[in-house]
Amino acid sequence: MSDEELHKDHELLISPPPPPPPPPPPMLPHKTIQEAETAIGRTLTTAETLWFNYSANKSDYFLYCHNILFLFLIFSVVPLFYLILELVYRSIHTYKIQPKVKLSYSDNVRCFRDVMRMFILVVGPLQLVSYPSIKMIGIRTSLPLPSVGEIVAQLVVYFMVEDYTNYWIHRFLHCKWGYEKIHRVHHEYTAPIGFAAPYAHWAEVLILGIPSFLGPAMAPGHMITFWLWIGLRQIEAIETHSGYDIPWAPTKYIPFYGGADYHDYHHYVGGQSQSNFASVFTYCDYIYGTDKGYRYQKRLLRQLKDGLKSGGKQNGGLHISPEDLKCD
Ligand SMILES: [Zn+2]
Ligand SMILES: [Zn+2]
Repeated sequence: MSDEELHKDHELLISPPPPPPPPPPPMLPHKTIQEAETAIGRTLTTAETLWFNYSANKSDYFLYCHNILFLFLIFSVVPLFYLILELVYRSIHTYKIQPKVKLSYSDNVRCFRDVMRMFILVVGPLQLVSYPSIKMIGIRTSLPLPSVGEIVAQLVVYFMVEDYTNYWIHRFLHCKWGYEKIHRVHHEYTAPIGFAAPYAHWAEVLILGIPSFLGPAMAPGHMITFWLWIGLRQIEAIETHSGYDIPWAPTKYIPFYGGADYHDYHHYVGGQSQSNFASVFTYCDYIYGTDKGYRYQKRLLRQLKDGLKSGGKQNGGLHISPEDLKCD
């Protein structure tokens, strides 16, 4: 080996080690609003200023854990809204899907108590330990905030991914083993109520966390979008389990939206149900042919109503509700 080669080897041996990787950036990498505005290259919007003031001194973990409070409030307040509506606004009873089933006040309290037990033992701890996965997929808390269009687009993706994945998991849970071991608990309410939306076996609560997580993993967004997603998904589930098919509900304007009547049918038929597995929309059941029983019932009901319009009055105003015609 020549002197020159030896010198080169020596240089390699004594060359300094590579610099350590830079430390992870702080939650908001700007100390003041002015700094943030300089970095973004424009003045902050009102929403961004509010977000900066609220979140600048809070850790990402703490912001993520806000979901626990949001879920607690949604599980409590939204079903309570339906209960109060039932007491105060008597004419809402017209829209009750299974009018013959009347759950007492104490039934509602018992359901809420069971849901809260599950919340403390499973839902809350799951939120506490799932933070690394949120970090891994890249949910950000920094400025700028996403536009309304970006938030809506991501929410649509999240709902569609959740709907599709939930459809197949739910369908699997209706196999003999899945139903007897796990899903039977959620079907204890054959006429669901708002409080019963998250009422399920602990394993189902964990399994159905996957569809909720997949959308944000595929199209990660801002923490605010993530909060909205978790909140809206639960509100949707409560509306779907409310037991009321309210014709003026804003969700009626969402294309292919299933809603309360759609999911109520699934609960009414129960463990034997091979209909209406989807959690949000109707198209999965349509594509895979699992809405035949429901559509047959709807058709039958429509024909009976049409028949009653012409001859029902002479028969003393015979009342037929959808529950009289359930079939699968
Ligand atoms: Zn089911
Ligand atoms: Zn259900």
